Formats: sequence, C-alpha cells, structure tokens
Amino acid sequence: MLRRRIITSAFGAGHTVRVLSTRASEVLSRLSISSTTELSGVYDGQWRGSGVVQESVCPATGEVLARVRTASPSEVQETLAKTREAYVQFRNVPAPRRGEILRQIREALAAKREDLGALVSLEMGKIRTEGVGEVQEFVDICDYGVGLSRMMNGRLVASERPGHSILEVPNPLGVVGVLSAFNFPVAVYGWNFALSLAAGNATIWKPSPTTPLCAIAVTKIISQVLEANGVPGAVASLVCGGKEAGQAVVESPGVELVSFTGSERVGRIVGQNVASRFGKVILELGGNNASIIMPDADLSLAVPAVYFGAVGTAGQRCTSTRRLYLHRDVADEFLSRLKTLYRSVAVGDPLAKDTLLGPLHTGSACEIYGQAVEKLRTVDADIITGGERYQRDDLKAGNFVQPTIALPKSVNPKDDIWSTEVFAPILNVAIFDELEQAIEWNNAVPQGLSSSLWTRDIRNVGKWIGPAGSDAGIVNVNVGTSGAEIGAAFGGNKSTGWGRESGGDAWKQYVRWSAATLNFSDAAPLAQGVSFTP
Ligand code: NAD
Repeated sequence: MLRRRIITSAFGAGHTVRVLSTRASEVLSRLSISSTTELSGVYDGQWRGSGVVQESVCPATGEVLARVRTASPSEVQETLAKTREAYVQFRNVPAPRRGEILRQIREALAAKREDLGALVSLEMGKIRTEGVGEVQEFVDICDYGVGLSRMMNGRLVASERPGHSILEVPNPLGVVGVLSAFNFPVAVYGWNFALSLAAGNATIWKPSPTTPLCAIAVTKIISQVLEANGVPGAVASLVCGGKEAGQAVVESPGVELVSFTGSERVGRIVGQNVASRFGKVILELGGNNASIIMPDADLSLAVPAVYFGAVGTAGQRCTSTRRLYLHRDVADEFLSRLKTLYRSVAVGDPLAKDTLLGPLHTGSACEIYGQAVEKLRTVDADIITGGERYQRDDLKAGNFVQPTIALPKSVNPKDDIWSTEVFAPILNVAIFDELEQAIEWNNAVPQGLSSSLWTRDIRNVGKWIGPAGSDAGIVNVNVGTSGAEIGAAFGGNKSTGWGRESGGDAWKQYVRWSAATLNFSDAAPLAQGVSFTP
C-alpha cells in the first residue's frame, strides 16, 4: 500500500511541491536523508557538490526519491587531491589501529543494517532480505579486514649471499578508486573499502549514477566514525556523478589502483585506460553463468537453487543463472517443477515481506529485456513461461517483467542468445546427454564468472573442478551460481576480467610490495657470483 503525502520541497523553480510516498520518506528519514532538500553528492571531509543534478528514482514506483548534486569536474579533481593528502597522513597509522577504526565502522554499519538494507531495496529494487543481506556482506568483510589488519604480513626470504636477508614488504599502496555498478550499491564498495582501509589506503568512490542515495548513506556512516577518530574524512571520499566523473578517476595518475565493477563494455574501456598509464586495475565484469543438472542430482535442492539463481534479484546479479543445461533423463521433470515455481512467484513491492520478485532497476533495462525476448521469438525459441511485462495495475508504474524460461532451437553457445549477458530474469535451457558436452557449452562463452554442477557422483565432481572442468572463477557443486561468501576470493575469468576481490589473497592487490635486500655483513658480494672488481 503506497500512501502518499505532500512534501514542501526546496528543489528550486518548477519543483516547489513534491509528492513522496510514506513508504519512501520513512526509509529515508531513518537514515537522516532529507527528502525535501537537494543532497550533496561529494564528500572529502566536507559535504558539497555543484555539478549536475542526478535523480534517484524508485524502480518499483517510478517516484523521484531525491535529487543529488554531483561533483563538477573541478570538484572531482579537488576531491582526488584531498584523498591523496588523507592517504599521506593515514599511511602512518599502524595497521592494528586501522583495524580498530574498521571495527567501529563495522559496528556503525551493523547498527543500521535493517535501515540501509531497506534503502538498497527502495533505490535499487532488490527485495528487502537481499538488501539487508548486502549490508551484512559489508559487515562481514569489515570483520575480515579487522583480522587482516594484524595479518598483512610480508616474508623473509633466504638470501644466497652470506650476511644478507631479503624482506618482501607490504606497504600501503596509495589512493584506491572504486567504481561500482548499480546492482550491489553497498557491498561492492564494502569489499574494496574494508581491504583498502586495513591496508592503509585512502579510497575515492564513484558509485553508479542511479544509486547515489546508498552511497551517501554509507559514506555518512563511515565519515562519522573517521571524524570521531581524528582521521581525515577524505580517507573515504565520495564523488557522485556519471561517466565523466568515472573517467576522471580512472585517468588520474594519482590513483594507484582502480577497482571497477560493471559491464564488459565499460570494463574494456576502463582496463585499457588504466593500463595505458601503467596503473593497477581490478575488473569485475559481466557474468553469463550456467547450471548443469546431472541425472543423479537431488532435484528437491537443485530446482529451488536454479529458481533463486535465475529469478532472485530479478536476474540482476553478476552471478545470476542465465543458462541451464539439463540432462535428458531429468529435463521434463525439472522444467515442470521449475515452471510451477515461476508461475506462482510473488511479485511486487520489494519492501513488502512476502515479495520474491522485485522490479528491474530502470526503464531501459525493461527495454533490453523486451528486445532479448523478441530475439528469442525471432529464432523460434520455445518461451515456456514469461516473456511479457506485468499488466497488474499496482505494478504498472514500476519496471516489473515476468521471469522467463526459453528453450532456444540452437544450442550453439556462440550464438548471441547464449553468449551475451542480458541483465534480466531470462533463463535459456538446453538438453545434453553427456557431462563433457555440458562442460564444453559451459566454457564456450566469453564470460567466466560462476558455474554450478548438480550431482551426487564424485567422478563428475572431479571432472568439473579439474583441468578439463569449468573455466569460471566460481565452480560450485550442489550450490547455485548466485551469491558468494566473503571468505573466498570473488571474481571471474576471461571477459569477466580476471579480478579477485574480498577474501583469499585479494588483499595483496591493495598494498605496494617491495623486495628489500639487507646486507649486515662486512662485504658487498654481487648476486649469482658476478665479479666486477675494479
Ligand atoms: P556499467 O558498466 O554501466 O557502469 C558501472 C560504473 O561505470 C558506473 O559507476 C558508471 O557510471 C561507470 N562508467 C560508465 N562509463 C564509464 C567510463 N567510460 N569510464 C569510467 N567509468 C564509467 O554497469 P552497470 O549497468 O551499473 O552494472 C551492471 C553490470 O555490472 C553487469 O554487467 C554485471 O554483471 C556487472 N557486475 C559485475 C560484478 C562482478 O563482480 N563481476 C558485480 C556486480 C555487477
């Protein structure tokens, strides 16, 4: 129920009165985000912004939630400079002390978990439990970073020269630019920020232009902790803006590491730009993930997992299941059960308790969905269910599309329908007879993010995770493609960009490594026995 109230707004000429639903204004007010005044989208110790205005639009209702003043080109440069100054100060703070600051940030985020989760739901459109889960992911990676702050160790290497030792030393790296996608408006930043802060860096965040409120709310929480600890706010800078602000961060020689999460198209540009100035880059790009169902799979587990993988987040996760390879022996049974779930999916307001399917994020995403369905029709794919926008009155103002299962005639993984990531709930299905065939299809697309095999046969498992198995960065067994824990390094291969974030050895990218050879002898021999006696 979307009750509305009139809000007198200070949005300038032509915008003096605005209608904001109670639903939205309650979420915003719990995070102290004004629903009446223009918001500052730049933070570098001070909140400001004099660039163009970005509107945050609720994907479920179409209402304008807020207007945000982005960073002007000169403000991006000023913020970059402030961020570097902050780094120069912060790099001298001992790592365990940095960990303590991160622990306090973790506490502050956890205290706002439900409210921030609701904001993610409101602004991005994913259902509330996933919104809250996303904030939990930030809390988890903070815990991880706190631990790391006492474990970011270098190594002592044996030297071939007497009286010598070699140290491999990790030092803070510098400024880390984080460019994030709309679909994880909190967690992607969290993965980067927690490791970057623990490593002693300052971070400048350029969020998606369509989710500025999440970025502002998170930055407010972090900045309060930094300020309370006497740390410059520009250790966690924010520049809201579009492509130009992103480009400025990417091209700045003062940004040692660019961590980019987004589409393959933009990732290609960003990767080349950073490489051309010899910067470091982490690319987390598109996925085109497959689940393979063997005849011995436990369907009571596999069917709901594929359902969540393909329909969860309305198909807008990089790890969403987009391809389903069914063994011929179980194909009919599997599809029949899956279709039943699809047809009864609870669609609606992502903030409502029972909703499982929220909207797509934007109107243009609906168009892309429509074009993809049209393309499937033109190649005579069997659309088993879905394929339309919802016509219900209460959904018309939002970007709601039916989750779709299609059985294309062609099983050639090189065809567009199989090889392109469509960021919408469309699941393409093909039937196979041998596991080798399914693995070949799994690997034949450009992307290599997530993959999942359902089987109880250990021989299949060995094949799947071995050299001739899945070539993706995430290779699951009896676990769906979608979602991951923070403990393992997260990322994909091939056109997904080869990036790794979060757990594992990912932290090693956020530090500057040096090899330091120390001579504490009375001679100065050369390595490899080289003689150069004058
Ligand atoms: P996008 O590529 O359109 O935008 C990502 C970011 O890049 C935004 O902040 C945008 O403003 C910025 N940008 C755009 N042009 C730029 C340029 N020329 N230079 C610098 N920055 C620029 O992506 P999106 O639509 O927001 O997100 C969806 C995509 O992200 C999907 O492909 C999805 O698979 C991918 N994604 C990947 C992961 C992963 O971990 N692999 C996670 C989440 C999302």
